[in-house]
Amino acid sequence: MRISTHDWTPDDVIGGNAALDFVNTVDKWTGEPVDRLGDASTVARWAEVAGLLYGDDMKRVAKEIASDPKGAAKFYKDAARLRAALWRIFHAVANGNDVSDDDLALIDDWKARAARHCRIARDGDGFRRRCTEAAPALERAGRLIVEAAEELLLEGRLDRLHVCGGDSCEWMFLDTSKNGQRRWCSMATCGNDAKVKKHRMRKKKKAA
Ligand SMILES: [Zn+2]
Repeated sequence: MRISTHDWTPDDVIGGNAALDFVNTVDKWTGEPVDRLGDASTVARWAEVAGLLYGDDMKRVAKEIASDPKGAAKFYKDAARLRAALWRIFHAVANGNDVSDDDLALIDDWKARAARHCRIARDGDGFRRRCTEAAPALERAGRLIVEAAEELLLEGRLDRLHVCGGDSCEWMFLDTSKNGQRRWCSMATCGNDAKVKKHRMRKKKKAA
């Protein structure tokens, strides 16, 4: 897959779910897909924009990558594999097709991977499972992505899962509009492109 990194901004976070936003870090999945991340540090920058990492996390990620570059490269490879599986799952759901068991199993694999960083701990008079502090920041971003995927599959409005109709886009989103007729990832980008195209076509027709 071609890599072309992107300067992520909050305007790019349009999926309504972190797993969808992660899938949206690739453009045009069904054509010639373009990976807009490419490495672990860009995943971290995206995760910060998406609200999965914050505070000192970016410093921690920089340290993690500097102290274990091979581990960071492996994380990226694994994360890209997860992203492809999530795309296949949600693309199948959006189109009413069957979802592969292997792809679903990858969500469980990542849950198990995250569980390694979670411990049962005392909490006042009771107990709770603590996951966040001991885990490397990159792994935590991965955990939040799979948790979002699971939440969407188990409890989400899957009937509102749409794919943007933009020519080179195909980003996915949960349509929370009242009438459920949202067609574009964003009116400012793909929606506007479509409007301009329509306008040009009309002009052409008039001129003919
Ligand atoms: Zn779009």
